[in-house]
Amino acid sequence: MSSRLRAKDLIIKRAREAGLTSDSGQALHLLLKQPADTVIVNGSECEPLGRAKRELLANYPQKIVHGLRLAMEATGARTGIVAIDEDCDDTARQILAAIGQDGYLRFLVKLFRVPRRYPSGDELPLVHAITGRVIPSGGTAKEVSVLLLDAHCLWSLHEAITGRSVTHQLVTVLGEVHRPFTAWVPRGIMISALVAAAGGPKKPEPPALIVGSVLRGKSVLPSAALPATSSLLLVLPAKHRLVQQHATTFEVNRKRILAACEGCEQCTCLCPQYLMGQCITPHRSMRAIALGLTDLATEIAGAALCSGCGLCSAVACPVQLDPAQLMFAVGQQLLQAGYRPALITTAVKAEWPARQVMLSRLLQRLDLLRYEINPPLIGSLTSDRVVLTLETTPRLKATPVIRDGHRVKAGQRIADVPLDSAGVPLNASLTGTVRLLAAGLEIRAS
Ligand code: SF4
Ligand code: SF4
Repeated sequence: MSSRLRAKDLIIKRAREAGLTSDSGQALHLLLKQPADTVIVNGSECEPLGRAKRELLANYPQKIVHGLRLAMEATGARTGIVAIDEDCDDTARQILAAIGQDGYLRFLVKLFRVPRRYPSGDELPLVHAITGRVIPSGGTAKEVSVLLLDAHCLWSLHEAITGRSVTHQLVTVLGEVHRPFTAWVPRGIMISALVAAAGGPKKPEPPALIVGSVLRGKSVLPSAALPATSSLLLVLPAKHRLVQQHATTFEVNRKRILAACEGCEQCTCLCPQYLMGQCITPHRSMRAIALGLTDLATEIAGAALCSGCGLCSAVACPVQLDPAQLMFAVGQQLLQAGYRPALITTAVKAEWPARQVMLSRLLQRLDLLRYEINPPLIGSLTSDRVVLTLETTPRLKATPVIRDGHRVKAGQRIADVPLDSAGVPLNASLTGTVRLLAAGLEIRAS
C-alpha cells in the first residue's frame, strides 16, 4: 500500500472515530472517501447575522488550512480554495500567510472572496462562482468533482488528526440579550444555559428563540439542547415577524396561500435554486401544494429541490405569504419518503447576477439590522449538563454502548453505529454521569 493510501485511510478512520459530520449532517468520513479534483473551504457567513465561521477563520487560520490539506490528501484533490467574505481583509491576510507556510499547499490553494449577498455561500452559487461548473439539477457538488466543506468541519478534522477529542462547537448568541457573545460550548449544551451566559433576556416577557440560522432555523424552547450543527442562537421579541412566521402552522399557511396567492411568479423569479438552473418553479409547486395535490407528476416534485433559503417569503412575495415553509416542508417529506430527483444537465439563468440580494437589504427587510454586531469570541463556556441526540446523522440512530448511571469522560465513545453504515459514533462532550433518555443521552457533570 502506498503512503498516500495509508494517509488517506488514517484520515478517514480518524474522522469516523471522532464522529465528524458536515454542516448538512452527513458523515464526513464518507464524503472524504469520494474522489474530487477540488476541495473548497466554505468560510463565508452569507447567513444573516452569522458570525461563527468568520471567527473560526480569524482565530485558527493554520488549523483550517491544515484541515484543508487533510481533505485534499483524502480525496486526491490538486486544487484547494478558501472562500472568505469580501469584507474580511485581515483574515484573508492570515489565511494567505498560513497557506504560504505550507510548502505543498502554497502552489495548490487560492483564496476566493465571497460577496456579501444572500445566499452566495450556498453550495450551488459558491461552486459555480469559484469553478464555473454548474451542478446538475438534482445533484450536489460531487457531480462536478468538488468537495465543499464548512470551515468548522475542517477545524474538527485537524483536531481529530492531531489526537484531540472534538467535544465543543462554536456558537454565537445575539439579539435581545444583555451580552451577545461567540464562544466554544460543549456539544448538547442547553439553550437556557446559553441565554443565561449572555446575561439573560433584555425584556421581562419571555423571548422567542431561533437556532441554526435566521431564515433556515427553527424555533426552540429554553429546555432544548443546542443542535450539533447550529452555530447561531437568536433571541427575539415574541412579536417579531420571523417568530410569528415560525408559529404559523403548515395548514394555516396553505389556506392563506390558497386564498391570497396572486400567481405573480415573483417567488420563482427570485428563487436562487431556479436561477441556478434547478428544475424548480415555486409559484407552480406551491399552488399545487395549496390545492392539496399529491401526485409527483405535478410540479410538486420540484419542492424536493428547495434549499429552504427563505428568500421567496422574506423578499419576493408582494402579499407577504410564506411559500418557503410549504416548499421546504413538502420537499423534505418527499426526500424522507425516498424520492430522488433525476440528474438533469442545466445552465445558470442569465438573470442570476442581478437577482442576488444584498445582506444589508435582507436584514433591513427582516427588521434585524439592529442586531448586526460582531460579538467577541470569549473562549470556552462550561456546562453542568448536556443532552445529546442519538441521531448523529439524519434518520440514523446510534446505539448506546454504556449503561444508565455510567461515568464517562469527555471524548469517550458513548454510542456507536455499524462500521458500514452511513452514520457516525457519538462521543461524550462532558465528563460526568450518563442517563439514558428515549431519543438521546443526558450527561451531568459530577
Ligand atoms: S425557500 Fe423559496 S426561494 Fe428558497 S429555494 Fe425554496 S422555493 Fe426557492
Ligand atoms: S410571490 Fe406570493 S403571490 Fe406571487 S406567486 Fe409567489 S406566493 Fe403567490
